[in-house]
Amino acid sequence: MLKTSAVYLIFCDNCGIPQHIPQYILQNYIAIGVDGVYCKNCEKRIHIPEFLRKIAAELE
Ligand SMILES: [Zn+2]
Repeated sequence: MLKTSAVYLIFCDNCGIPQHIPQYILQNYIAIGVDGVYCKNCEKRIHIPEFLRKIAAELE
């Protein structure tokens, strides 16, 4: 089964490195209320911005 999958970008508050957030993360984590991810560079927690939560809520 083929699916198109978008990748979303957020920037770390601490080091500014962009983080790629795949659509499945939005669907499986953000949509159910997880409100942060860990930066791959500095390992600080990055708060999920409101716009991304809205996108997650609208995904199937
Ligand atoms: Zn960082």
